[in-house]
Amino acid sequence: MPENNSELIQVLTDIQRALTQEKELFGDTLHTDPVSSLPPTAGDGMPSHKKTIPLVEGPDLFGTAPVKPVPAAAQPDFPAEPWVGAGDLKDLRSQICDCMKCSLGSSRIKFVFGVGNPDADIVFVGEAPGADEDAQGEPFVGRAGQLLNKILEAIHFKREDVYICNILKCRPPNNRDPLPEEVDQCEPYLWKQLELLKPKIIVCLGRIAGQTLLRTSDSLGTLRGKVHNYRGIKLVVTYHPAALLRNPNWKKPTWEDVQWIRKMYDDMKAE
Ligand code: URA
Repeated sequence: MPENNSELIQVLTDIQRALTQEKELFGDTLHTDPVSSLPPTAGDGMPSHKKTIPLVEGPDLFGTAPVKPVPAAAQPDFPAEPWVGAGDLKDLRSQICDCMKCSLGSSRIKFVFGVGNPDADIVFVGEAPGADEDAQGEPFVGRAGQLLNKILEAIHFKREDVYICNILKCRPPNNRDPLPEEVDQCEPYLWKQLELLKPKIIVCLGRIAGQTLLRTSDSLGTLRGKVHNYRGIKLVVTYHPAALLRNPNWKKPTWEDVQWIRKMYDDMKAE
């Protein structure tokens, strides 16, 4: 038992952090098993949260990955606004970079459009810019971005090979979750970006990116380990690098995810 107030506060803080992480992964279902950060897989009667994606190092094992196509999520239409006719990413950026459609427009330092190869076959989508991204106008340049760079390097991608962007183009105050009205205003810009990029694979970094693009409230644990269909494009969901900074135990499953994603990318290139 904690012996004084500061110990008690520390214990409560630790519990709160653990529950927040658990909720991020599994939504409102509380798993009490310490391996509950592993993704659910269908199959042999074992409790789903006790099983791993069957991915380990070695080329043959990827064939057994749980590729479970799901129907394309219904997507709303573009708003009737001039930028919808943008012919390329540069044009789109110049038409939307002064956006003031939500309150984040007035608090941002820089509009964070996206970065990378306009011909990339793979696009990584995060949640929203943080302080570093807001200051520099580029996604994933802070601590989470450094980790994303390492993850990309580990699967032999350079940042310049891929395209990186976010659901929101402006930083929410104190890095809070995006509000529905902010997503409603901003997400169509991302749809247009994706329409221009025409990627073969979209990797959602974290629950919020996955839930937003797929129009679902499913937990990260449910979304991971499946190939979803986003307007005819393969979409997968993995951990957000910021979550890995908070909980290093998620690095191993992330490594499994990204190896699987790299294999999917290589297979797509070989087609
Ligand atoms: N987190 C995100 O989701 N996006 C960024 O660009 C940086 C941190």
